[in-house]
Amino acid sequence: MSQERWQQSLQDAVTSADQLAEYFDFDPRPLMAVTAQYPMRITPYYLGLIEQVGDPIWKQCVPDLRELVADGLDDPLAEEAHSPVPAVIHRYPDRVIFYVSGSCASYCRFCTRKRKVGCADMAPSFRELREGIDYIAAHPQVRDVIFSGGDPLLLPDPVLQDLLARVYAIPHVEIIRIGTRVPVTLPERITNRLCAMLKKFPPLYLNTHFNHPRELTPQATEACGRLVDAGIVLGNQTVLLRGVNDQPEIISELFRGLLKMRVRPYYLHQMDLTRGTGHFRTSVKDGLKIMYSLRGPVSGLASPHYVIDLPGGKGKVPLLPQYVKRQGDILLIRTADGSEVEYPDLPS
Ligand SMILES: *Cc1c(COP(=O)(O)O)cnc(C)c1O
Ligand code: SF4
Repeated sequence: MSQERWQQSLQDAVTSADQLAEYFDFDPRPLMAVTAQYPMRITPYYLGLIEQVGDPIWKQCVPDLRELVADGLDDPLAEEAHSPVPAVIHRYPDRVIFYVSGSCASYCRFCTRKRKVGCADMAPSFRELREGIDYIAAHPQVRDVIFSGGDPLLLPDPVLQDLLARVYAIPHVEIIRIGTRVPVTLPERITNRLCAMLKKFPPLYLNTHFNHPRELTPQATEACGRLVDAGIVLGNQTVLLRGVNDQPEIISELFRGLLKMRVRPYYLHQMDLTRGTGHFRTSVKDGLKIMYSLRGPVSGLASPHYVIDLPGGKGKVPLLPQYVKRQGDILLIRTADGSEVEYPDLPS
């Protein structure tokens, strides 16, 4: 079977510290202990976005010794405990995550599913996928199925099409979502053929994962444009990452840039308590400051919810800056420029 260009790109990806040292001046030896535990993969395209050692692109994809610090939790969101069958995470009544792929184009060092993503034996088997579909079919309360992983768009078109068609055919499933980082790390994967296939499953929502304005390249813009032109609704989930994007100017540039690409910022995530990712965590206080700085100066369309996914699988909760103080029936409401306005509430 002839290979598509994106599949060739995956084969050309950098997967070892030694290979990376051919491109950049750094000592690869310490990183081998990390790659022995957590896989590394960087696509040629994403590698090309690195300008220098330690920059925001580098930090997202190059292993770091601090990943071996034994803090945090293996499965902070208790996903395994909420998996009635191996390929399904069912935490909210009406929506499920369908774990369809165990690999990604590039491995993010801050990944919440670090425990399994990219590990050879963690890819869902054909049988597990069938059990997942049977589970969804047997639970009429499930309206919303989120294809996730790993990255669903690493599946070959016919495999993905088959899974989508089976889920689409379940009468109580109202919408399908795909979570993918491919527009960021492997934009050549978004082929016209893929878009034509996805177009058959409306309403289809796709959430991607841009974290830094430097990822908003012409190639990524074109990839997102092709998806939107196919009638797919695009959203973006950003993770707040220390030393990568934890500054108001970076976040506002990122969110404004996404809107220009017809991608709507959906969530800004507080880092989960995942083992090996502590060096990326920011304080909630800093996150709230960033959210406060967006309100007013930046279009409301570019202000996502800032959410924390609670440990133990208790769900996502939005975090809001302190806008409202109550004095009896009077609300004191803080404005974008920091002044306070009184609003008389109805007596309770
Ligand atoms: C995040 C998540 C969802 C989707 O939540 P939304 O807030 O609807 O985007 C569904 N199931 C699980 C297990 C999740 O972690
Ligand atoms: S693309 Fe998503 S699932 Fe894959 S490594 Fe990155 S954060 Fe994890």
